[in-house]
Amino acid sequence: MRPQYRLNAPGDFYVADGECIACLQPAHVAPTLMGFHEDEASPGGSHCYFARQPQSVADVDDAIRAMRSACCASLRYSGCDPSVLARLKALGLECQCDYPG
Ligand code: SF4
Repeated sequence: MRPQYRLNAPGDFYVADGECIACLQPAHVAPTLMGFHEDEASPGGSHCYFARQPQSVADVDDAIRAMRSACCASLRYSGCDPSVLARLKALGLECQCDYPG
């Protein structure tokens, strides 16, 4: 697991710390899951994050949609749910999964 941005809600989906260039896409496509902290005063201070973890099938769809929309590979999945891992692999996002294999 990579170091997480400090505002992520605890859970399997997270945004890795320190790679944000403020594309805002995840918060745009999944506004009920993703937050964006604006901090223009400090370099690298602005960042997106998982404001809450998925609680439903629709939420998991949104989380995967957010991962797919990201302009960087910072949105990650650290869980081991085979169905989620298979969906991410099918989308070419296996490099954003922490679970080995
Ligand atoms: S996807 Fe990357 S660049 Fe875009 S807001 Fe999130 S962390 Fe920042």
